[in-house]
Amino acid sequence: MKISELFKTDKPTLSFEYFPARTEKNAETLEKTLDVLTSLNPSFVSVTFGAGGSTREGSYELVKKLKQEKKLEVVAYLAAYGFRLDEVAAVLDAYQNLGIENILALRGDLGKDGAKEIPVDTIHYAYELVTFAKKNYNFCIGVAGYPEGHLEAPSLEKDIEYLRYKVDQGADFVIANFFHDNIYFYHLMERCQKSGITVPVIPGLMPVYSVKMMEMLAANCGAIIPEQLKKGIASLPEGDADALVEFGIQYAAAQCQELLREGACGLHFYTMDRSESTAGIVKILREKGLL
Ligand SMILES: Cc1cc2nc3c(=O)[nH]c(=O)nc-3n(C[C@H](O)[C@H](O)[C@H](O)COP(=O)(O)OP(=O)(O)OC[C@H]3O[C@@H](n4cnc5c(N)ncnc54)[C@H](O)[C@@H]3O)c2cc1C
Repeated sequence: MKISELFKTDKPTLSFEYFPARTEKNAETLEKTLDVLTSLNPSFVSVTFGAGGSTREGSYELVKKLKQEKKLEVVAYLAAYGFRLDEVAAVLDAYQNLGIENILALRGDLGKDGAKEIPVDTIHYAYELVTFAKKNYNFCIGVAGYPEGHLEAPSLEKDIEYLRYKVDQGADFVIANFFHDNIYFYHLMERCQKSGITVPVIPGLMPVYSVKMMEMLAANCGAIIPEQLKKGIASLPEGDADALVEFGIQYAAAQCQELLREGACGLHFYTMDRSESTAGIVKILREKGLL
């Protein structure tokens, strides 16, 4: 099913993002995570794609497992910076042959070194991938959006112009990067409305479960860690990992409740291949009849 169909009802979507495991231990954790989170009956799941094709095989195998074994609706990501069109086609053909109907068209992270010289006949921006996929395939296409603006964008105005361009090229939905203060998502929605973007924009949630990880992920994409979140963490017993996970659940659940009450079309969880936080939040939302 194309996930654009899901937005035709008033029911908010629930989706979980996974990445392919790199070690045997991670694979075991992912397996347990999938058991727990699949039982929550998500609207769809998604699988990341390492920049430069670093997880091409692993991503394909995970997409296949989720689609064929778990019988889930899957959004397969493709981060195509530096890919020639025949390389893009090879990845998209493989997904199409699996019966995948949804992709997320991404440029991909550039890594610490930033943009490097890449041949002109390769993908430089996500919109080129959208254009190519729209012209040659029948996928429902999603793209990334940035509530706080993309780090490399010269301004929020330019960033929304580029998002609008991805939509004009044929993107059917947007998944927003995570934010720890809902105001950034509301501002993104306002910018979308002003610039005529009418496709669904799904808010992304990254529950806090480790301070180090929270700081690293926020630094990677320029997300702000609000004072309220910092204070909440500082008030926890030092070194109490369980208390931090529980705090992260409560904090993100409050964010989700407000988002749903404000009419968000869905909730997309960056699970980090862990189940505890996401499952805890979904439980709270379901008890309140919000999902
Ligand atoms: C939901 C989600 C999932 C993600 N999954 C992955 C993943 O699986 N793998 C991965 O590597 N990364 C992933 N990322 C990170 C993403 O790849 C990075 O944020 C990347 O730096 C930008 O990708 P993009 O698709 O948004 O790029 P683009 O839309 O191409 O934008 C990149 C930058 O270029 C600017 N820009 C866009 N078009 C133009 C133009 N025509 N001229 C000049 N400037 C332009 C934009 O403002 C932005 O600053 C994900 C991000 C999100 C939000």
